[in-house]
Amino acid sequence: MDEQLLNTDVAVLGGGLAGHCAALAAAEQGASVLLLEKCAEPGGSSATSAGSFALAGTDLQAAAGVEDSPQKLAEELMRVSGGHAEPALVQMYVERQADTYEWLKRHGVVFHKITLSSSTSVPRTHPTNSRQLISALHERVMNQPLIRYLPNTRATRLKVDGDGRVRGVHLQSGERRWETTVRGGVVIATGGFSRSRDLIRKFAPELSSAPAWGGAGNEGDGLTMAWALGADVADMGFVTGTFGVAINHYPDTEARAGDELLLRMAMYRGGIAVNLDAQRFADESLSYKKLATACLYQPRGIAFQIFDQAIMDQSVANPSVNDFKGAFDKGVIKKADSWDDLAREIGIDGPALQETVRRYNGFVSTGKDLEFARESLSGGFGRPVALQTAPFYALPCSAAVLSTYAGLRVSTAMQVRNVFGDTIEGLYAAGEVVGGFHGAGYMSGSSLGKAAIFGRVAGAQAAERAATKSALEQRQSGSP
Ligand SMILES: Cc1cc2nc3c(=O)[nH]c(=O)nc-3n(C[C@H](O)[C@H](O)[C@H](O)COP(=O)(O)OP(=O)(O)OC[C@H]3O[C@@H](n4cnc5c(N)ncnc54)[C@H](O)[C@@H]3O)c2cc1C
Repeated sequence: MDEQLLNTDVAVLGGGLAGHCAALAAAEQGASVLLLEKCAEPGGSSATSAGSFALAGTDLQAAAGVEDSPQKLAEELMRVSGGHAEPALVQMYVERQADTYEWLKRHGVVFHKITLSSSTSVPRTHPTNSRQLISALHERVMNQPLIRYLPNTRATRLKVDGDGRVRGVHLQSGERRWETTVRGGVVIATGGFSRSRDLIRKFAPELSSAPAWGGAGNEGDGLTMAWALGADVADMGFVTGTFGVAINHYPDTEARAGDELLLRMAMYRGGIAVNLDAQRFADESLSYKKLATACLYQPRGIAFQIFDQAIMDQSVANPSVNDFKGAFDKGVIKKADSWDDLAREIGIDGPALQETVRRYNGFVSTGKDLEFARESLSGGFGRPVALQTAPFYALPCSAAVLSTYAGLRVSTAMQVRNVFGDTIEGLYAAGEVVGGFHGAGYMSGSSLGKAAIFGRVAGAQAAERAATKSALEQRQSGSP
């Protein structure tokens, strides 16, 4: 077996956004890197995501006349987390977001016009096309001579020495198994655990029967491997679903092989959400995480995003959550010229839907939502709008487990901490596998932001440790 597979400065486990950023950052410091991806294709959840980054104070915001600042972003991240986020991690995110945005652009990532999404008081969602995001970074990885990328290769266990320092990783590719020794460190970037029924049952049993999406390889491998070494975890009690996942073949609610995940959020453009009884069940401006929990309590866990032509006219391709036209063209969004006909299309009571919309439009005109106190489009931004321009639309949807946003406790250098608060030497983590950043809530775009920012820090720190160790070894051996 060739030497680079047996010895490396840095091993990065997982080829999603965090893994790509960690690998590139480590190589940019001169470290040799093994980037391991369990699946055949790189990208994980990052490649299927809506591609939005939560950033503040950018040129794109200035161009749209949006006033924002890193300080405001920090305050809102803390508020949205319900005070559970670790302030040091939030501060680190905010301090590194501007240069990470520039770094991503330098690596070929294209950002589109900013938009408003969930839990932000101003438009600060910076959309990318998630496929373009990953393919641009993957191309850089493949052209970087210091990085060796191995698809279809799964990390199975971490190797530790007698003092508990991480010394390497056990790997498996098909029938082949081997161990790689690392000089600097192992970066866990294996994503969340949305695809592990076992971990979901353990930490969020109420989601056990919710559909699971997210990267096919996101089974919590890195979390479990670090856990086996005594790693501490954070935010596990806050794992929730995501509202707005289309039911592709409604009224058939079963997913079919080859189904595409269509996540759409017409409620943040002014749509409402109703249940099978044609009743609203929440303030639609709330975070899609909170709406998910509310949706799971509705009859059969089914909801409809209801909107009109004025909202359909705001459809854009990026971010994909606002691509209503695309979902309509795929036959997932239903359309009718009257509320009654729309209700018939989706099999709910016509007069009830008509009455719900009439009451809601009345609330909009008086400025007082007497049912759910909705005051904005999303997160306090924008005013609710009446639904009155035919034709009308309905998106059958539900809550699903897309991302888990909870996991390993880390220092600001992305070193994994054990249950006693000490760092586990040689072990770093980045991306969705990290806990302690989102807390009890979730700001849209903050997970891709976190994957890129924390990934860069983790890779650079592991590379620095490798450089320090080799300088030390050289001094000890007396070489110049
Ligand atoms: C539909 C959807 C839409 C989303 N939209 C947004 C959004 O717009 N903005 C936002 O901020 N967040 C969004 N998210 C969340 C966000 O995409 C993820 O949190 C983020 O991409 C995680 O990045 P990551 O690199 O940590 O993990 P991933 O991108 O999931 O990558 C992890 C990789 O590790 C691999 N892996 C796992 N175990 C092993 C192992 N043992 N050995 C080797 N490899 C392994 C996996 O196969 C995977 O490729 C969305 C998520 C989904 C599912």
